[in-house]
Order: sequence, then structure tokens, then C-alpha cells
Amino acid sequence: MDKLKFEEGSEYPKELDNNDCLGHYRQRFYIQKGVIYMSGNSLGLASKDAEETLQIAVEKWKEESIKIWNVDDSKYFLYSKYLAKLMSPLIGVDEDEIAVTGSTTMSIHQTISTFYKPTNKRFKILVDDLNFPTDRYAVDSQVRLKGFEPSEAVKVVKSQDGKFLDEDKIIEAMTDDVAIILLPTVLYRSAQVLDMKKVTNAAKERGIIIGWDLCHAIGCVEIDLGSLDCDFAVWCTYKYLNGGPGSTAALYINRKHFKNLPGLAGWFGNKPETQFLLRQEFEHNQDGSGWQIGSPSILSMAPIEGALKMFHEAGMSNIRMKSLCLTSYLMFLIERKLSSFGFSIGNLREDSRRGGHVCLEHEEAYRISMALKSQGVVPDFREPNVIRLAPIAFYTSYVEVYDMVAILIDIMEREAHKEFSAKRNFVV
Ligand SMILES: *Cc1c(COP(=O)(O)O)cnc(C)c1O
Repeated sequence: MDKLKFEEGSEYPKELDNNDCLGHYRQRFYIQKGVIYMSGNSLGLASKDAEETLQIAVEKWKEESIKIWNVDDSKYFLYSKYLAKLMSPLIGVDEDEIAVTGSTTMSIHQTISTFYKPTNKRFKILVDDLNFPTDRYAVDSQVRLKGFEPSEAVKVVKSQDGKFLDEDKIIEAMTDDVAIILLPTVLYRSAQVLDMKKVTNAAKERGIIIGWDLCHAIGCVEIDLGSLDCDFAVWCTYKYLNGGPGSTAALYINRKHFKNLPGLAGWFGNKPETQFLLRQEFEHNQDGSGWQIGSPSILSMAPIEGALKMFHEAGMSNIRMKSLCLTSYLMFLIERKLSSFGFSIGNLREDSRRGGHVCLEHEEAYRISMALKSQGVVPDFREPNVIRLAPIAFYTSYVEVYDMVAILIDIMEREAHKEFSAKRNFVV
């Protein structure tokens, strides 16, 4: 995409839509009339496929009651494994290395508490200052549980410009006192993709456990954790994976660590053969599913099943290619048509270093995002000056990208954003 040439006219996006091999997926999603949805990186849209697998689970509950756990060869009892099989190709790991369980924050607690065994010499957890704050809250509380203060045991790599991280700075921070590293693959604000290979290899050379937060990457960027050979990973399923609001999250444990006991044990991490013998002694199931804690949240997992099947049909490389093409086209239009209004692009430009959204920067970003909302666009404002725009491979058309830019031009020409107060209204 780095070298793709686009055209400015209004016929051109129609041509792109007509030639789009993923274009037909749009009709499988619930697209509201008159709405241009640009927040699929925060909450993916509902699809008929996800609705159908949710409906099936509801019907099984109605018809089978307690027997729901046993229908279809115990599909729902083993639902973490079932979904892990659908998820594993998206990140290049074996299906038995994944648990579909809890929330991302819980997955961080689970993985950190599993791997964090501080000694006098190695007791620090290395993080960055741009990651989504819940990751940090979890890490801070994990070090406190071991009797440390975050100020002594959480080492923070600082961004130089508040937008991007420098991999070399991260590697420099990998000193002998670092036990674990937790980093995001795609930064939620600037969309930077970190060089996972370089950072992971450096951690491994130094004997440091390393885990990745894939929340803003999975379902958008192609990932191969298997060849990376990192130690663990966590991710949510409601952003690019379209699993539904608060759908169950997941984690990956490299199989070389299967013998470790989970930091947070519960009966769904017990061997299935003895789980219902209800013994007082925990018998850890030594694969990814052994990191589950309690009963699987069937109704928060069922939509993920339908949503993931679409990824299989479409293929991750096609999805990434379309996503890059949509965002390249958006950046082209921003540069050609919006620069004169004071807009700039706040993300990195190389394909390999950017995720699925474009950061549109403007000093009036807040009021402009309010004006966009009043015109049916759903953007995502981030303090102090960024509007995140995420055209999604499965359901955003090139015509919508064009139309949204036309709306932005209209807002700026009419100064329509000035009708809105700059006072923040914190209902997201
Ligand atoms: C979205 C996101 C989360 C979400 O955490 P939940 O516990 O699932 O609410 C966590 N970390 C990052 C980096 C995210 O982007």
C-alpha cells in the first residue's frame, strides 16, 4: 500500500468498492442507515453470524437447561477449547495454547501472577507509558501483591514524544533486574505497531519473560506468535474481532510453560476428567485451558463463534490488505483535502508500522468530533487533539471513507464545530 496511487474524485471510491473482494461481507453486518461507523477498533459491529451463534446458545439454554453443558459433544462445557481452535490461526499458535476466558485485564492478572516470581536480583516488570491504563493498573497491583511498591518494581519506558515508542529504548531498559515485560503490539492511540520480533528476541537473549497485549492488533494485523516464541499474550474479542460488548477475552501460554501452575487457579483449570470428582486438590490441566478460572460465560462467548468464522472465510491476509488500503485511501484524502484546514496525520506512515486506524489531529479535535457525531459519523476522540478513525475491512466501504471526508470539509467550511462547547462530556 505504501506506493498505491489513489484518485480524488467521487467516482473513484465506487470503483474501489466494486473491485473489493471483501465487499460482500458488509451485508452480513448490522449497518445503521445514515451512520458512518469509524469506531470498530473500540467495539466491532454486530453481525448476523455472531447473532446466529448467540441465538443457538440461547435456544440450547431454553431447551436443554443444565444439559446445555453436554450437548454437541460437550461443546459448551469445552467452549474455551472450541473457540481457541477458531482463534489460533489468527495469531499462529497451537489451539491448545489458548484459553478463552475473563476480560483482558483478568488475563493480565492471570498471566503476570503465573510468571511473576520476583527474586532479590530480578523483581521488576517492564512496561511503557503509552499502553492502555488498565494494563498498568493490573501490573501495579501484581507487584503490590508481592510486597513491592510500583515505584521500585515497575520500570516504565517513556515515549519521547507522547505518541510513539522506540524499540531500541525498550531494549536498553532490559536490565538484569527485569523479570517480565508486558507491551502492546499496536498502541491504542497512535496505532504504532511495535517490532515484536526485535523486542522479543532481545528479551529472550536476556532471559526475561515477555508477553504481548494484542487488543488493538488481533483481527486487524497479521500476527505469528508461534514463530516469535514469546511467553504469553492477552487480548480482547470485542474490537476488531466483533465478538460483542464485553465479550470474553483470551490469553496465550507458550506450551513450554504448561507445567507452571496458574497464578489464579479455579475449577475450570482442573483436568476435565477429574473436575467433577470435586476433589479438594487442584489438578492442573496442563495446556492453555488450564488457565481458565471459573465457568465459561457462554452467552458472552457464543457471538465470538460466528464472528470468528468470518475471519476464516475471508483470510487474515486479505483483511489486513483491505484495512491498509482503506486507511491509505483515507490518509490520501486527508492530505489532499483537509491539510488546508489545519488537519494532520498523527500515525506512522509505513504499512509495517501502523495498525487499523488513522489518527487525525487538529487543535479543535474535540469540537470537530462533536460536529462529526451530529452528522452521523461515529469517530473516537482521544485527549487532547486526536480523532481516531477506524475504517474496518469487513464492513466499511470506500464510499463511506470518501463521504466522511466530505462531511469534514463541510464542517470546516461552515465552521460548524464552533456551535459545540469545548467542555468535555465524558460519556464515551
Ligand atoms: C481494549 C483494551 C483492554 C481492555 O481491557 P478489558 O479488561 O477487556 O476491558 C485492555 N488493554 C488494552 C491495551 C486494550 O486496548
